[in-house]
Amino acid sequence: MSFELLTRRQKALGASYRLFYEEPFAPVRGEGVWLYDKDNTPYLDAYNNVASIGHCHPAVVRAIAEQCAQLNTHTRYLHPSIVEYAEDLLGEFPETLNNLTMTCTGSEANDLALRIARCHSGGTGILVTRWAYHGVTSALAEISPSLATGLPTASHVRLVDAPDSYRQKDFVGSVKAALEDMQQHGIKPSALLIDSIFSSDGVFSPSNGEMAAAAQCVREAGGLYIADEVQPGFGRTGGQFWGFQRDAVVPDLVTLGKPMGNGHPVAGVVGRSDLLDQFGRQQRYFNTYGGNPVSCKAAQAVLDVLREENLQANARDVGSYLAQGLRALAERYEVIADVRGEGLFIGVELVENCDARTPASRAAALVVNGMRQRRVLISTTGPAANILKIRPPLVFTRTHADLLVERLDATLASLS
Ligand code: PMP
Repeated sequence: MSFELLTRRQKALGASYRLFYEEPFAPVRGEGVWLYDKDNTPYLDAYNNVASIGHCHPAVVRAIAEQCAQLNTHTRYLHPSIVEYAEDLLGEFPETLNNLTMTCTGSEANDLALRIARCHSGGTGILVTRWAYHGVTSALAEISPSLATGLPTASHVRLVDAPDSYRQKDFVGSVKAALEDMQQHGIKPSALLIDSIFSSDGVFSPSNGEMAAAAQCVREAGGLYIADEVQPGFGRTGGQFWGFQRDAVVPDLVTLGKPMGNGHPVAGVVGRSDLLDQFGRQQRYFNTYGGNPVSCKAAQAVLDVLREENLQANARDVGSYLAQGLRALAERYEVIADVRGEGLFIGVELVENCDARTPASRAAALVVNGMRQRRVLISTTGPAANILKIRPPLVFTRTHADLLVERLDATLASLS
């Protein structure tokens, strides 16, 4: 790692840019689940969910290059690429979710979803989980407590407990209490915005009926249920194509991003057409780059590859195999208190004391850096950053899973 580049970077970009790892990693090339440094040393990528069908997948590279060489404009000209993609993508949703608006980032998608929810409900109140992350705009920073501790939450926002199965939190009870509190303060709810895999909160799976009950509460109060699928969407959870499908409830709006273009910036909002119509009658939405032909071709290639290479099924198979391997490690290392998640989105909670459940934040940082030294890339999540976040490209195989478990074993052994 060039110290000179690091210094220049800090000088040119300033303080809000962070790097992963004590020894920063500088990849120069990616292929499948591998990232390579300048010496061509391979690192197993068990973290990057954006390159979900594998780094630099040739089908996406080709689609982008071909469309780039032919035409790239915006959605104010008639072009089949956005229509074909919308029709195909909507086929992956329950019938009532029948409109797509395209954006460039997950943040833009969430920001638009909030505007639609406000337009529909006439309210401003928003419920999010206690350690949520939903994006970078001003409106989203106000509802993303995980961005920084100590920042005041805006007065129209209420924080609810995630359905933490390890610490036994009452998600639905917390939603009800927050709605009552809003009512007492004269705030009309507009939305319950939930990351379907609760990735920043610590990777959780609501038990059967919990998400449906929470959605019902917010709907009765006049608000919408928005499922943020930026993290779990496009097959990652294995058992289903969308994370929200883990419960028997259809959201009013669904926001998409990250894996949608395998690295190309493309995102969107899928929702009920009556909601998008209501919004569209009052105001127009034009996003200069959102839905351009190049983005649509990239997104189409991703969807095609996900199906052709059966990657959802792979996420289920390899995900459960990997979780098994991690649970076997949990038998041998006391520090591993819980292995959870679904498909290829796994959280491994580390604690110092099983009875007190004290977060082992320091151990988690040592593990992440120890894994990086052993050339496997993972990270941490949760308010105390004590949960290992394992979220590889969906082309991860059992062999890759074995390698990850073996290196984690070695890393944990070096700590004890
Ligand atoms: N929602 C969730 C759950 C996310 O994890 C992220 C990005 N980490 C976003 C929204 C924002 O997406 P983007 O960075 O593309 O704006």
